[in-house]
Amino acid sequence: MTFALQPHYPLQALNTFGIAARADFFAELDALADLPDLLATPQAQQGPVVWLGGGSNLLLTGDVAGLVVRMALKGIRLLKEEHDSVIVEAAAGENWHSFVRHTLEAGWYGLENLSLIPGTVGASPVQNIGAYGVEVKDCIEEVVTAELDHGGRERILTNAECRFGYRDSVFKHEAAGRLLVTAVRFKLSRTPRLITAYGDIDGELSRMGISHPTPLDVSAAVMRIRSSKLPDPAKLGNAGSFFKNPIVDSDVAEALLQRYPKLVNYPAGAGKTKLAAGWMIDQAGLKGYRDGDAAVHERQALVLVNHGSASGADIVRLAEHIRSVVRERYGVELECEPVVL
Ligand SMILES: Cc1cc2nc3c(=O)[nH]c(=O)nc-3n(C[C@H](O)[C@H](O)[C@H](O)COP(=O)(O)OP(=O)(O)OC[C@H]3O[C@@H](n4cnc5c(N)ncnc54)[C@H](O)[C@@H]3O)c2cc1C
Repeated sequence: MTFALQPHYPLQALNTFGIAARADFFAELDALADLPDLLATPQAQQGPVVWLGGGSNLLLTGDVAGLVVRMALKGIRLLKEEHDSVIVEAAAGENWHSFVRHTLEAGWYGLENLSLIPGTVGASPVQNIGAYGVEVKDCIEEVVTAELDHGGRERILTNAECRFGYRDSVFKHEAAGRLLVTAVRFKLSRTPRLITAYGDIDGELSRMGISHPTPLDVSAAVMRIRSSKLPDPAKLGNAGSFFKNPIVDSDVAEALLQRYPKLVNYPAGAGKTKLAAGWMIDQAGLKGYRDGDAAVHERQALVLVNHGSASGADIVRLAEHIRSVVRERYGVELECEPVVL
């Protein structure tokens, strides 16, 4: 048994919002063999346990009563090689961006557009991370999980069983608190199939002087765009996009477009349209809006930031204000993307 339960543990350095909060108890899981013992501790039995990755999609609204476990399982294994593809497994505690770079350097392609997303591999299927026209579900073969009600017994879910949706999966619903992601198996291609027409990837590549990009070039372009647009959590606390882009019936979108012809929108399946939440917040005059140390980022209206000493409650109050302004102006409900604890 290598884990230690540490009481009254500070979490400020473990969440990218930089919110000061404590856990009654804290442990790190760095060996899967320890999971049954960890689950048998009185602290875990009293539950619910909070499983933490990089803390980059989390808003702590106060101290956490109970046990917080940080996933520190490590390891990347090539499971299968086929003519044009590979199956590669990464443990839940691997850093997401380092894993993406590892795959690209090995000549395994598909994850390049998801470069520089903070957090861990284990959290990537939870909200089906996505950026620049790619979602992680596009490359997931299987998710290896531990059944928490059965002492950590292994259960492998196929891609279909994960029921992926926009920033959504089974891990946010029935499987929440029941299945712990211990590793993810990705199917990656040996042949590049680049998606560069999304966002400003093409423009960035040409500014870099690249006309025949490789997947590593696309990754570099995505990193440059992200670094110029998004605040670095090491310097300014945030959890990336705070709101999901709302998906509405297309006739609702049509009516809104009559009033706001510039409203940025994307097709989202039969009869549905996805609206750009950032555009709506920006056009409502809230970009840069500040309430104490809780604020809307000056360049990205979708990102809420902590200028130093904001509490989770301060961020929630700001988010509520934004939601009510958007509701009143556009008649649209905004939903939070981070998990609020
Ligand atoms: C600057 C910035 C930019 C971002 N950009 C993007 C983006 O472009 N696209 C995007 O999709 N997201 C983005 N995010 C959000 C975030 O990076 C992702 O959601 C990421 O996958 C969260 O990983 P994490 O390890 O930090 O998860 P955490 O914040 O630690 O956890 C998030 C949730 O997942 C659960 N969880 C964590 N690990 C496991 C596990 N192993 N098994 C089961 N449940 C688990 C936690 O309990 C919690 O409910 C951004 C965040 C920041 C700060």
